Amino acid sequence: MADIAGNLKYLKGVLPSAVKLVAVSKTRSVNEISEAYNSGQRLFGENRVQELLSKKDLLPSDIEWHLIGHLQSNKVKYIIPFISMIESVDSVKLLNLIDDEAVKEGKVVKCLLQVHIAEEETKFGFSTSEIIELAKAGEFGNLKGVLLSGVMGMATYTEDLSQVKREFTDLADCFSYLKTHYFSENINFKEISMGMSGDYITAVESGSTIVRIGSLIFGERNKTN
Ligand SMILES: *Cc1c(COP(=O)(O)O)cnc(C)c1O
Repeated sequence: MADIAGNLKYLKGVLPSAVKLVAVSKTRSVNEISEAYNSGQRLFGENRVQELLSKKDLLPSDIEWHLIGHLQSNKVKYIIPFISMIESVDSVKLLNLIDDEAVKEGKVVKCLLQVHIAEEETKFGFSTSEIIELAKAGEFGNLKGVLLSGVMGMATYTEDLSQVKREFTDLADCFSYLKTHYFSENINFKEISMGMSGDYITAVESGSTIVRIGSLIFGERNKTN
């Protein structure tokens, strides 16, 4: 079993204090999550709505949950009541749906725009040019139930750290451009969520404000997930 408390302590020691740590708890049991909670961790990330719903009621209610995986339209309404941030908004359609559902619930939900920075084809997200076009077209201007809080991205899974660095820098540049040109009045638009177990150091060096770490806290996952 992984030394969850020890791993968290180590990470908190090496991460700059301004960088938020999302403990990625997908595939982990309620017991493992409780162990992290008992050592002081309050921010957790899950990538599947079904799994999140089945675990959250068995855990303390002051946990802040971030959704970090692709969100299907028909699942939006189930998470709006409690989710603290949706990091994986990957289409305008989804953004508008979250907005509508949040308004219905009388909530304002923090969201990040997921940007596709990796070489791999399969990852969800906007391209950097697409997101700038959408901003220019005013697609992010009229939201009532969504508080746009920044961007999220995943680098290519590779040993080549110079490529990873380049991709994170692209995301940070995309963020800065959006911030300067379209979100200068929005003080909440401030987050760059990037960095996982294998690349968080490079991510932090590139300007990350949120890292999402699973394996380094809880141990290797058996499933590819
Ligand atoms: C699984 C996952 C992580 C964490 O991955 P680790 O390599 O275990 O740290 C981070 N972000 C997303 C979107 C994930 O799906």
